[in-house]
Amino acid sequence: AGMVKSFMAVPVEEMDGSVCGVLSACNVPNSAAKLGLLKSVALSFGMFCHNRTMYHAMKEQGEKDVLTGLYNRRSMDKFLAAAMSCPNNFSIIMCDIDDFKKVNDTYGHKSGDKVLQAISKIIVSSLREDDFVCRWGGEEILILISGTSLNPAAMAAERIRSQVEKMSVDSDGQAIKCTLTIGVAERSEGKSTDDIIALADERLYKGKRSGKNRVVES
Ligand code: GH3
Ligand code: MG
Ligand code: MG
Repeated sequence: AGMVKSFMAVPVEEMDGSVCGVLSACNVPNSAAKLGLLKSVALSFGMFCHNRTMYHAMKEQGEKDVLTGLYNRRSMDKFLAAAMSCPNNFSIIMCDIDDFKKVNDTYGHKSGDKVLQAISKIIVSSLREDDFVCRWGGEEILILISGTSLNPAAMAAERIRSQVEKMSVDSDGQAIKCTLTIGVAERSEGKSTDDIIALADERLYKGKRSGKNRVVES
């Protein structure tokens, strides 16, 4: 076992002063003189950590919607193109919050935002890691269900619908209830992603016309 004759340690700090690590050295001859060297290595390493943190933050900012944390439309376009280039089946689920304007008018825009966040959370937690959830428009959420045909996709949509129906969001002591109308469509020969999305959208509007709070897959 080695004897510790001398020991020095310096904090590794990011640019904002937050400590992201410690750099230490044992038994370095002439430690006092080497402390300066250790400090400058820690400074460089801190700069590296800071850049890495910034890079991930920027990347996330470019890919995700700030309010909901869902993917943005640009990311979804990439996922759709990738899905299209594979032979595997996939389905599209298009969700729209029912009477969301009324929620804003009754409880205020801030509470509306809270509802959007809560619904997003429910949707993400009810799906698998390899499904992509995107904020497609203001209160429209588009989901790409990988490797899945129409029926299981419609079952996933129904699970989401029923969970959102049971949810309630607190707004200054008042419970806000909300529902979703959902259209589902699957990939098929000769259809572009735009065609599949248009079909899901068409079914969504069929659901709106026939009373909302439902899943339409045909
Ligand atoms: P429908 O059942 O037919 O979908 O009715 P709706 O009221 O949900 O639909 P409409 O398209 O008339 O209104 C959508 C509302 O969604 C209006 C808009 O202010 C609101 N909205 C869109 N984006 C946001 C957002 O980021 N935050 C909040 N709070 N509201 C939003
Ligand atoms: Mg809408
Ligand atoms: Mg709506």
